[in-house]
Amino acid sequence: MESIIRLENVSFSYKINEKTKVSVLKNISFSIFPGEYVAIIGHNGSGKSTLSKHLNGILTPDSGDVWVHGHNTKDVNKKRSIRQAVGTVFQHPDNQIVATIVEEDVAFGLENIGVPREEMKKRVDEALNVVKMSQFRHRPPHHLSGGQKQRVAIAGVLAMKPDCIVFDEATSMLDSFGRKEVLQVMRKMNNMGMTIITVTHHMSEAAEADRIIVIEGGQIVMDGPPREIFKHKLELENLQLEVPSVSQMAEVIHRKFTTFSKDIIQESEFIEEVEKFHKAEVGT
Ligand code: ADP
Repeated sequence: MESIIRLENVSFSYKINEKTKVSVLKNISFSIFPGEYVAIIGHNGSGKSTLSKHLNGILTPDSGDVWVHGHNTKDVNKKRSIRQAVGTVFQHPDNQIVATIVEEDVAFGLENIGVPREEMKKRVDEALNVVKMSQFRHRPPHHLSGGQKQRVAIAGVLAMKPDCIVFDEATSMLDSFGRKEVLQVMRKMNNMGMTIITVTHHMSEAAEADRIIVIEGGQIVMDGPPREIFKHKLELENLQLEVPSVSQMAEVIHRKFTTFSKDIIQESEFIEEVEKFHKAEVGT
């Protein structure tokens, strides 16, 4: 299968001044394929955000290459089509809202690329519908909750019809309710066929993805399905990462009640297991 994004031996340093450079990404290679839902995790300072900015050419490598649909992100003539193919939702919802009315905000990017009026209206309707914000379309965004604002920002990216959306710590400013809302939207968009990449330090969020890439010191140290990755509890601890809290709880319960499964990584699985256990023990 053709990849959407391909990184080949990517290295990158920030230039602090004429003499000093901070080497952040070191020889990273991987591909993202259509329809994948990938979480990139790593502790603070491991290079996640720098890596995510390479996925659509916000940053370009010092050596190595990033290819989006076969176009090199260093090719200035392809910048626009690359940004259109790979959209980004950032951390702060407030910084992404530009208009004073929700539907105008969602339409903003479309106006910039000159999408005809009728098509624009259709795309705004569809995008607001996906993120369940249609009833707020005439409201000023600054009256919305953090999670709602982030869903408006997602609708703005979605309306551009990208092939892939990168969520760069997009839930880290939200409360647990807002985070849940945004996670549901990510899953829904992935079920609709959209490729999702989420950069996160929340393990519960990474557990929702189909593939996890772990980075440490600007290098990939693990790449696999969440259930496999979270089996490496000690290695993760050495990388200053934890398994999801529901996995930790399941393990504690399993030690006392061996029939309670410890192979749990998602909240929904934990709830199911509690119900199953309760039925078996109490018989109701
Ligand atoms: P993460 O997202 O995993 O926290 P970052 O990619 O933000 O990691 O940062 C990786 C390293 O690069 C850190 O040491 C950070 O201090 C450094 N860094 C990030 N942005 C800049 C910048 N604009 N200028 C200089 N150094 C930076």
